[in-house]
Amino acid sequence: MPDTQRPVALVSGGSRGIGRAVVSRLAHDGFDVAFCYRSNAEAAARTVEEATGTGARVIAHRVDVASLEEVRAFTAAVENELGPLDAVVTSAGLTRDNSLLRMSDEDWREVMGTNLDGTYNVCRAAIFSFMKRRTGCVVTLSSITGVHGHAGQTNYAASKAGIIGFTKSLAKECGKYGVRANVVAPGLIETDMTAGLTEAARKDILDNVPLGRLGRPDDVADLVSFLVSDRARYISGQVLGVDGGLVI
Ligand code: NDP
Repeated sequence: MPDTQRPVALVSGGSRGIGRAVVSRLAHDGFDVAFCYRSNAEAAARTVEEATGTGARVIAHRVDVASLEEVRAFTAAVENELGPLDAVVTSAGLTRDNSLLRMSDEDWREVMGTNLDGTYNVCRAAIFSFMKRRTGCVVTLSSITGVHGHAGQTNYAASKAGIIGFTKSLAKECGKYGVRANVVAPGLIETDMTAGLTEAARKDILDNVPLGRLGRPDDVADLVSFLVSDRARYISGQVLGVDGGLVI
């Protein structure tokens, strides 16, 4: 058994971008943190290195969130090593953008598999322990695209809108067990996912951000940090934007 009383957080997609910032932030907040990634072991090692300086135990597993079997094994291993989970953050996600006319079945399925099935798989694996212990907190990552839609992203938008319905339903289902569930919906955040945007697309978005800059992973991690904390004890079933005002 672990010899620490630190709360335990599980983060999917923690090797890069928003997930990495969340891992570091929660480790600074006093959590022991386990995260998974799909394939980039080098990036995962960097996240572990960045977050371990905080005194937290930080562990990384290579897990495809689209596989319930792999996610179940991961969750069991984490609970065995770090103790029962207190918070789950589902950040693993990907894009395969194209117009619907040109979209391949494979790109549709891959996005739904990682983004939506992946969210279900992680929450499904954690929920029994949360309900049994009458505590726990879920934060899912949707997107401004899941709320408003975006041309060229029907697959991504469908997956991210699905995450909103999923999380609101979970909040209604599990509130009586003391479990909270909220959605974070970022605007454009500077990560590998958005690095391929053309300058014109970037300028177009920036022109519509009242705060005058694109988002940083830390902007999102700070909200996640708040949502998993006791300061957010009466907040559940919400969709909270982190977008510099882009949707106004
Ligand atoms: P990145 O592309 O920077 O990082 C994606 C992370 O998810 C990586 O750690 C990657 O692992 C992991 N991952 C991808 N697929 C899988 C899988 N099948 N199983 C396990 N892990 C996987 O993305 P961001 O940090 O930009 O995005 C994080 C989340 O925020 C996503 O859900 C995204 O949709 C959402 N979001 C992002 C926005 C943005 O502007 N960046 C805006 C709105 C929402 P590996 O390193 O091994 O590839």
